[in-house]
Parts: sequence; C-alpha cells; structure tokens
Amino acid sequence: MNPVAIRNPEMVVIIGSGPSAWTAAIYAARANLRPLVYEGEPSREMIPGGQLMYTTDVENYPGFVTGVTGPELMETLKQQAVRFGTRVEQENIASVEFGRHPFRLKPNYSEEIEALTVIVATGARANWLGVPNEERLAQMGGGVSACAVCDGALPAFRDKVLAVVGGGDSAMEESLYLTKFAREVRLIHRRDELRASKIMADRVLNHPKIKPMWNTRVVEVLGYDAISALRVENTATNEVSDVEVGGLFVAIGHTPNTAFLGGQLDLTPHGYVKTPKAWRTATSVDGVFAAGDVMDDYYRQAITAAGTGCMAALEAERWLAHHGFGESPVLETAEAPVTLTREWDPS
Ligand code: FAD
Ligand code: NAP
Repeated sequence: MNPVAIRNPEMVVIIGSGPSAWTAAIYAARANLRPLVYEGEPSREMIPGGQLMYTTDVENYPGFVTGVTGPELMETLKQQAVRFGTRVEQENIASVEFGRHPFRLKPNYSEEIEALTVIVATGARANWLGVPNEERLAQMGGGVSACAVCDGALPAFRDKVLAVVGGGDSAMEESLYLTKFAREVRLIHRRDELRASKIMADRVLNHPKIKPMWNTRVVEVLGYDAISALRVENTATNEVSDVEVGGLFVAIGHTPNTAFLGGQLDLTPHGYVKTPKAWRTATSVDGVFAAGDVMDDYYRQAITAAGTGCMAALEAERWLAHHGFGESPVLETAEAPVTLTREWDPS
C-alpha cells in the first residue's frame, strides 16, 4: 500500500458554508493557514451558503445600514474569505475519523483528506411536521414548502389562502413575506403564545392579511396533485376540522447537521455539538472546533454564527501554535503536545 496516497495534512479544514464557516475562513486565511472549506452540495434539505440563502432582507447584520439580502451577504463573505487564500470544495463531507491524528475526512466523491484541525460549521436545516401527504406534496411541488422566499412568488400561490405553521421568528418572517402574494395568511400555532421576538410578533399580529389560528395542530395535508386543505385539530378541545388552503409553508425550526459526525463528537440531547467550556468552541475531541448553529441552539443568528466562527479560527490557530505549527503566540492555555502519527512536511 502506498503510504503517501493521501496528501500532506491540511492545517485547517472548515466544514460548512454559512456565516460561521466563512468568518472562520477569513480569520484562518489571514493567519496564513490556507484553510480548505467544504461548502457542501445543493439538496432538498441544504444549500451552499446556508440558511440565509432562503431569506430576502437581513436587517440585523451589522454594517449594512439599509440591510442586505441573504444570498448577497453570503456571497460577499465567501469572496472575502477567498480573497485571503481560502480554497473551496463544492462537496459534502460524508464522514469523519476523529479517533486518530491527523484527522481523516471523507468527502462524498473525492479522495479522503487529512487535517490537523477541523472546524465543524455545518449549521442546521428545516424540520417537517411529519403528517400524512406532507412530504409527497413537498417533493412533487404540490404546494407544500419549507421556504416562502424560495417558493412564495410562484404563480400557484398567488391570491390564495396560504398557511404557515410555527410560532418562531421564521414563521413570522414567512407569514409577512407571503402577504405580498397571498389573499390571506393563516398562521397556525400549536399554543396560544408566540415564541418569536416581540418586534416580529407585533408586525404579524397587526398585519391585516394575517389571521392567527391558536392552539391548532395540523394532522393531515389534503389534496392529490396539489394541496387543497389542511385537517387540523384544536389542541384545547380536540375538535377536528378542515381548513381550505392553497399552500402550506412549514416553519417549525431546524435540526443541526451532525449526522455525518457518526457520534464522534459529544452532542447535546437535541443533537447540537457540545462545546464544554464557556466562551470556547473546542469540542470533546482535541483539535476539533465547532461554530454557528450546529453548536448554538440559543442565539441562532447570523452575527452570533459569524462570532463563533471567528472564535473557532482563533482557537484552531492557537492549537496549531501550541503543537508546533504556525506562528501564533503560545498563550496561557497551552495544552500538552500531541504525538502526530507520522512526519508532517509543511512545504
Ligand atoms: P448555516 O447557515 O446553517 O449553513 C450551514 C451550511 O453548511 C449548510 O447549508 C450546508 O450547505 C453546509 N453543510 C452542512 N453539512 C455539510 C457537510 N456535511 N459537508 C459540507 N457542508 C455541509 N439570522 C439573522 O441574524 N438575521 C436574519 O434576518 C435571519 N433570517 C433567517 C431567515 C430564515 C428563513 C432562517 C431559516 C434563518 C434566519 N436567520 C437569521 C438565522 C441564520 O440564518 C443562521 O443563524 C445562520 O445562517 C447560521 O449560520 P451557520 O454558519 O451556522 O450555518
Ligand atoms: P424556533 O424559534 O425554534 O421556533 C419553532 C416554532 O415551531 C415554535 O413556535 C414551535 O412551537 C413550533 N414547532 C416546533 N415543532 C413543531 C411541530 N412538530 N408542530 C407544530 N409546531 C412546531 O425556530 P425558528 O423560528 O426557525 O427560528 C430559529 C432561530 O433563527 C431563532 O433564534 C430566530 O430568532 C432566528 N431567526 C431570526 C430571524 C430574524 O431575526 N429576522 C428570522 C428567522 C429566524 P413552540 O413554540 O410551541 O415550541
């Protein structure tokens, strides 16, 4: 067997392509670590560029007085990272091997690579209700979607009564967006209180086109070629009824993208990567760091994702310096050196 079949280990591999990944890449690239980013592949559940690719105006990301569109922000962050020497592969990392060092990462199609440090920045993806007919109609373009910004302007949804399920900021944003096209928006929430921020909730509740349906859960999506109605249950009275709608937008939160880790990092009960020390992005595996929504089920904002991306890159840089790579000053948090499994040629 050829022992040098795998090229020299990368200093830093960043997995993901949301605000946390590109910010980590900007910092790592400016530290001359030549980061390699695996930005992922487009699929029904995920898109390179991350969750902001599904939204229009981002008004709360600092630095943009009049706001910025999600795709524009993500392209700008990516170009900023590339400008400093970040290399980008348009592939998913399918699996990892963190039980050895250098770590091994297997992309979906290309050869395995090795890395001295890894930053997991794979974010999260939309959840579905899991009720009969939902997935079938979503897959066939039958009027069920998890992204109003992507699908809301389609002719099939114009001047219809549209339903949005959920009570968080995403559901508020989806509802408000859909008012541009819909005759009426029914906001279906399983409780009688919204989880969304007050400013978003107020906008929704004061909008003349949006009608909330409290204490209501969807039990079935009705329609063969396209959605015709929702079968709903009142959670207080258990009464079941049908509500005619021309579209359903599911906005009930997200699942962290951690399956590819194969249980090799400690996760929280909800599947988020654990970062045990406060104000650190180090995970349960020495040399592996996590940033963004994949490790944060509390703030889940673009700016906090970017912030933790910065933290992860600085920690990776310091980790490398502590272990004899790169030029970062060794700080008071110096760890014991690791034993590399073979000679590493930095050329
Ligand atoms: P994500 O944005 O989740 O992106 C991660 C990406 O990594 C994935 O899309 C995928 O392409 C890639 N990936 C995943 N797995 C792999 C793998 N195995 N290999 C390679 N690549 C992989 N926040 C705000 O601050 N302001 C807003 O206005 C705002 N609006 C939002 C609107 C919507 C509709 C949604 C859903 C969220 C919104 N948020 C907003 C939240 C914000 O989008 C997220 O907090 C932020 O995008 C998280 O960034 P992230 O870096 O963790 O990764
Ligand atoms: P979220 O805050 O977790 O809210 C999910 C909502 O869906 C909750 O109201 C929840 O109900 C409901 N829900 C969950 N599972 C359900 C099920 N099976 N059936 C019916 N309802 C269900 O998720 P999010 O709204 O996607 O927001 C995620 C993060 O992104 C948040 O931090 C948010 O602030 C941020 N975000 C920000 C903006 C913005 O600032 N403009 C826009 C979008 C998102 P319960 O309330 O009963 O649990």
